[in-house]
Amino acid sequence: MSTLIKNGRVIDPASGTDHVADVLVAGGQIAQVGTGIAAPQGAEIFDATGLVVAPGFIDMHVHLREPGFEHAETIESGSRAAAAGGFTSVCCMPNTKPVNDSATVTSYIVERARRLAVVNVFPIGAITKGSAGEELAAIGNMKAAGAVAISDDGMPVMNARVMRRAMEFARSYDLPVIQHCEDLNLSAGGDMHEGVKSVRWGLRGIPAASEDVMVARDLLLAELTGARYHVAHISTRRSVAMVGEARSKAITVTCEATPHHFTLADENMEPYDSNYKMKPPLRSGCDRGAVVDGIAAGTVTAIATDHAPHAGSEKMQEFERCPFGIIGLETALALALEELVQPGRISLARMIELFTTGPESVMRLGRGRLAPGAPGDVTVFSTDLEWAYDVNLSFSRSRNSPFDGRKFRGGPVATMVNGEFVWRR
Ligand SMILES: [Zn+2]
Ligand SMILES: [Zn+2]
Repeated sequence: MSTLIKNGRVIDPASGTDHVADVLVAGGQIAQVGTGIAAPQGAEIFDATGLVVAPGFIDMHVHLREPGFEHAETIESGSRAAAAGGFTSVCCMPNTKPVNDSATVTSYIVERARRLAVVNVFPIGAITKGSAGEELAAIGNMKAAGAVAISDDGMPVMNARVMRRAMEFARSYDLPVIQHCEDLNLSAGGDMHEGVKSVRWGLRGIPAASEDVMVARDLLLAELTGARYHVAHISTRRSVAMVGEARSKAITVTCEATPHHFTLADENMEPYDSNYKMKPPLRSGCDRGAVVDGIAAGTVTAIATDHAPHAGSEKMQEFERCPFGIIGLETALALALEELVQPGRISLARMIELFTTGPESVMRLGRGRLAPGAPGDVTVFSTDLEWAYDVNLSFSRSRNSPFDGRKFRGGPVATMVNGEFVWRR
């Protein structure tokens, strides 16, 4: 079975390609990229005139909630939301129940994904047993079972000695260490960013310093150990500056930004609306601007959604009781176009890098390019399609998005995984 994607603007940052061309996909792989490719007999033709054809997008940070929280999301439903967002590969965080801290859980996720997911799913193993921050998890066994990185996301590794050992182990296994940067003593049960708004609304604040302190500590440990260190969901001006400086000193550090952190600040929050409650919290306008600057300057190397589904009943409680996190797979590309590309902050090719080669360089999945022989993962999107996001039509099992009803210009049109279209608008 083969498919010829005809006449699209093919942008493949890995090879520097940016011109109108055809892409032939056969046997689950990219077979040929070029102009005037003749369709093989029986090939499906997809007319991509006026559309962008890119390598399949990679989201290196999602929560699929399975096993343990299937009422909020499953590997299958999360994968369908990913496909509808233009993602062909996702890396899922280990804060499931049980926590993915052993080869048994890793294998379970790999097996479920093989049977039920419509996109490629790569599990991230825990750093510590139960993500409790004390004893290292079975890192080597998880890697053998398919884990592509380690993280205790949802929780930071508070103990510096444990983090140092984790980095040493991860280095010997050649795995990246992804940290949820939050000093729990400083965030101290806070619900939103500490600032004018938190004071006005009488909510406990999470200071920017709770992130900055952890980033500073970990950069010292990354330098000490030589580990590949990655800051999840960077959100503050100082953290962006520290990561930028460390990268200039050749410390092996990377960081990702979420669409909500480069789009929204605390001043954009609807008061007491839990669809604006996440960790790290929406920061000040100055922090948001620094994240955008970090993306434009190349300090931030990946866009990741931190897709965090929560069932309606959990998000309907009063603000202080609600869990942290929002869904984000289906709005990420449109937000990146609107906030980064359309205002001229970055080029279209640079945006595609942030969704492909950027995360690929950290996770090393063997994906993120359109060259012949590469897996047949392709994201087709429009830069001018007008549409509105209706969260009630989401493929996710959860509805917790602050972007419900938002009108967009540009968005995903078709998603191909391993040579087969798994979603079309
Ligand atoms: Zn996190
Ligand atoms: Zn997360």
